[in-house]
Amino acid sequence: MAPETCRVKGLVVIALVLCTTEPAAAQYGVVPATKATEAELQPSACQLRLAKVAMFKPLPVLAGPGECGAVDAVLLEWVILPDQAKVAVAPPATLRCAMAEEVALWLREDVAPAALKLGAPLRGLDNFDSYECRGRNRVRGATLSEHGRANALDVRALRLANGEVIDLTDVNVPKHWREALRGSVCARFSTVLGPGSDGNHEEHIHVDLAERRGGYKMCQWEVREPVKQAEKTEPDAEAKAAKLEQPVPLPRPRPVASAAGGAPAKKMRSHLRW
Ligand SMILES: [Zn+2]
Repeated sequence: MAPETCRVKGLVVIALVLCTTEPAAAQYGVVPATKATEAELQPSACQLRLAKVAMFKPLPVLAGPGECGAVDAVLLEWVILPDQAKVAVAPPATLRCAMAEEVALWLREDVAPAALKLGAPLRGLDNFDSYECRGRNRVRGATLSEHGRANALDVRALRLANGEVIDLTDVNVPKHWREALRGSVCARFSTVLGPGSDGNHEEHIHVDLAERRGGYKMCQWEVREPVKQAEKTEPDAEAKAAKLEQPVPLPRPRPVASAAGGAPAKKMRSHLRW
């Protein structure tokens, strides 16, 4: 067979293949896949709402391992307050959009006004943990934590414009202020775990949007009394009593650390978290 004839036959074969495969490709999803890709590039309704109150980066679908993962996730970097001031989420938090939106609204509507009562505007939130594929409290084989669904945030502290860092579990922060904050966070989120919940949340607050039957919520955050503050004021009480030149009862023996003049050893921060 002449080479020209072979070439022509080859072209005919290619044309036939193209003609026969095109309808099949359409039938098996090439066109729908293209539409899906375009749809993925469009921001979700949640992200459109979030863009009005925060600055964030949309993330690709978080997939696995195992049950872990989330769709419509974002990297939440800043929350914009009503006066256009920005609150930094540090480090930026990986959250599904609905969770990011609730965090943004909490900061805007509840935390920012509360911060003003402490003397300065809100400027930052310390993110202790957001998306992480693990069991509750890092126990292997335990129920998947909401962190594994990008549906949880661990908050350690807030930062104010005057440089002050407000640790949410610090007993020296006014108790009524912490109680009010607990009320706001428990109203918004379905799970809130803090000091007194399970021993793993003594120095941070866990919040998530877990869905439970009947909309059941968990609000376990014991707002503690400033015990150490009472010990610190003891010398002042003694001085006042001495000025009155009246007999006063002997002070109670103090802990060894205080007697030696040293500060009590700082507790190890817990690494077990929901
Ligand atoms: Zn947590």
